[in-house]
Amino acid sequence: MKIKKIAVLTSGGDSPGMNTALRAVVRTCSYNNIQCAGVYRGFQGLINDEIKTLNTRSVRGIINRGGTMLYSARSEEFKSKDGRKKAYENVKKHNIDAIVVIGGDGSFTGSLIFEKEFKIPIIGIPGTIDNDLFGTSHTLGYDTALNTVMEAIDKIRDTAISHDRLFFVEVMGRDAGHIALNSGIAIGAQEILIPELKIGIDELVISLKKSKKAGKSSSIVVVAEGDDTGKNVFELSKRVEEKFPDYEIKVSVLGHMQRGGSPTCFDRVLGTRMGVTAVETLINGQSSKMIGFKEGKIVLTPLTAAIKGNSKINPELIRVAEIMNV
Ligand code: ATP
Repeated sequence: MKIKKIAVLTSGGDSPGMNTALRAVVRTCSYNNIQCAGVYRGFQGLINDEIKTLNTRSVRGIINRGGTMLYSARSEEFKSKDGRKKAYENVKKHNIDAIVVIGGDGSFTGSLIFEKEFKIPIIGIPGTIDNDLFGTSHTLGYDTALNTVMEAIDKIRDTAISHDRLFFVEVMGRDAGHIALNSGIAIGAQEILIPELKIGIDELVISLKKSKKAGKSSSIVVVAEGDDTGKNVFELSKRVEEKFPDYEIKVSVLGHMQRGGSPTCFDRVLGTRMGVTAVETLINGQSSKMIGFKEGKIVLTPLTAAIKGNSKINPELIRVAEIMNV
């Protein structure tokens, strides 16, 4: 089937670079004389018929903007068969031949179900800061989030040093510790708590005692939000404070600022390459694939594999972090 019209949507949590990928999808459609439709507010917009034609002018001036021009949403209705049927009626109404979904694993799960039910080809672009998808070394937005976290903790470090304080900084990462591990190395954290490595409170206390003995008067502990020990970072800090009465311990939860901001050069180039490949993959008659990035190249992974597998933490980074804590 010759593809004449492609729809594009952003779904789940927003990430820097979503706009860049959207721009690339629209322009690659135009380059290939394919119509492009923007679906506003993710799958919910597909159900509610929030669909507008996009052309190269519609995506002017967004390459450097965080968030998503199409808005993102989480749609409970799309999880029901009735909801998806309504969405498909709009796909037919607008003569949409294929869809590019920019989102995370939940969005890809919904995409696979929708594709199977209604035989509509779908290609996924991994837009999430968590870097928690199999089949890509970098998800879109991850590099920007890392730099945002690094800059924020650098600022916290100034206060930590000036006041001889111990800081616990919670960063995003429900299931994956990529942000915590990499930003932790980049800012010189004393300890990094991630869900993949079950460092208990005892081990943490030993490490902090060691650092105190070595003459360090201030330290930063980076905690991924999904880590067992640090699940409640305020409680964790209280328990550690009991062991170090002379340390003033402060907690900082970075929160949603990690998801925003202008994409880095890396994410802009990545988003552009992913957007181009998404459209070209559909033109070549392929579907159910996620566009990934590995060893400098753009690669395709079946959406099923991208969801089921997880992106493993690099053991070399753990070793490097340990050596730095000498
Ligand atoms: P992030 O990683 O940033 O959280 P995500 O894509 O994983 O992004 P989710 O909220 O998990 O975010 O999923 C986005 C949307 O995908 C949901 O709101 C829902 O509309 C759809 N979706 C998720 N799971 C399913 C499912 N099992 N069936 C149908 N649709 C689903």
